[in-house]
Amino acid sequence: MTYELDHLEIRESVARLCADFPGEYWRRSDRDQAYPTEFVTALTEAGFLGALIPEEYGGSGLPISAAAAILEEVHRSGGNAGACHAQMYTMGTVLRHGSEAQKQKYLPAIAEGSLRLQAFGVTEPTSGTDTTALRTTAKLEDGHYVVNGQKIWTSRAEHSDLMLLLCRTTPRDQVAKKTDGLSVLLVDMREALGDTLNIRPIRTMMNHSTTEVFFDNMKVPAENLIGEEGKGFRYILSGMNAERILISAECIGDAKWFIEKSSSYAQERNVFGRPIGQNQGIQFPIAKAYSDMRAAELMLREAIRLYEAGGNPGEEANLAKMLGADASWAAAEACVQTFGGFGFAEEYDIERKFRECRLYQVAPISTNLVLSYIAEHVLGMPRSY
Ligand SMILES: Cc1cc2nc3c(=O)[nH]c(=O)nc-3n(C[C@H](O)[C@H](O)[C@H](O)COP(=O)(O)OP(=O)(O)OC[C@H]3O[C@@H](n4cnc5c(N)ncnc54)[C@H](O)[C@@H]3O)c2cc1C
Repeated sequence: MTYELDHLEIRESVARLCADFPGEYWRRSDRDQAYPTEFVTALTEAGFLGALIPEEYGGSGLPISAAAAILEEVHRSGGNAGACHAQMYTMGTVLRHGSEAQKQKYLPAIAEGSLRLQAFGVTEPTSGTDTTALRTTAKLEDGHYVVNGQKIWTSRAEHSDLMLLLCRTTPRDQVAKKTDGLSVLLVDMREALGDTLNIRPIRTMMNHSTTEVFFDNMKVPAENLIGEEGKGFRYILSGMNAERILISAECIGDAKWFIEKSSSYAQERNVFGRPIGQNQGIQFPIAKAYSDMRAAELMLREAIRLYEAGGNPGEEANLAKMLGADASWAAAEACVQTFGGFGFAEEYDIERKFRECRLYQVAPISTNLVLSYIAEHVLGMPRSY
């Protein structure tokens, strides 16, 4: 693949870093469902996880295209940035809506790696996609919010110091709009862990360090409220375009990894005395996955262009995420088929990446909900839910 790419120097240095973490490293973490601490430390020390934090707060102050390039290269190398990507977009909520005192207190420490903001608590077991129906409450008492409730799929909670938590501060029946009355708290989990905050890991089909989190009268200082009370839903929404753009970049990295593997194996593997890649039945799914990936990449670039121009590209960010996830899944399918039986053997990493990339059809937003967004907000059809 020789087409023009942006941020070439960053891409090359991420690729060099990733070369120290070969398939064997990721297979071992996957087998043990272990957090890839060494990889995350290396990425942090190289400054890549602080790419989006402004220079005045100790980060590199780079645009989102640079963060997308970093995450794409991690995935293209065969690795998985799911262990640490959240910091890139969750810190945006603090940056855009936090007070100056909060930014001074947290962002430099996050940028240097002494404080981890990897946990993002939105989803709950009963509310699911219907975020405004969440049941975790926070009541202000004597200078503290007292939090009760439960989150699910809170990834990396065991490997984070802070959690960005969405909870209800005004009951749903007392607000004009159901999106009102939700607030964002920046929780320092170290203070409450094992006491009023408990974390239970969930084993999943891929290694993702995801968890359930239980709050039982957990106290959070009132000064840890982000922005205004009751406006948290808007703050969370404002970070979602960035999240979708970055996840799309990871999917495109995955698609490239699968396509590169498949097309080179198809040329090397001889069956019936000729390379399997000579058969159109093998070529076409790979070529189709490549065209899907290129189309998704163009949409991603458009989303990034609009985002960097200060826009709010909901349509393009959603489409980039959906098309990217579809392209990586198509490429994963083609890769398993091209490798035949070897596609199932652990040592080729294909089955691991196959399991990993499936997630992005469902999270952070499922394909159905992207299509609902397009139907309603772009095409003007009635809301379906
Ligand atoms: C590994 C993993 C990591 C995650 N990490 C985090 C995290 O760090 N923080 C966090 O807050 N969340 C996280 N999530 C949660 C993730 O965002 C949700 O799983 C996802 O948004 C879907 O919500 P749900 O699982 O509750 O599905 P549900 O809402 O129960 O939906 C189930 C299915 O029904 C479909 N559906 C629901 N409503 C409609 C509708 N109106 N129209 C059409 N279809 C519909 C959905 O598309 C989905 O396919 C993670 C999930 C996973 C699996």
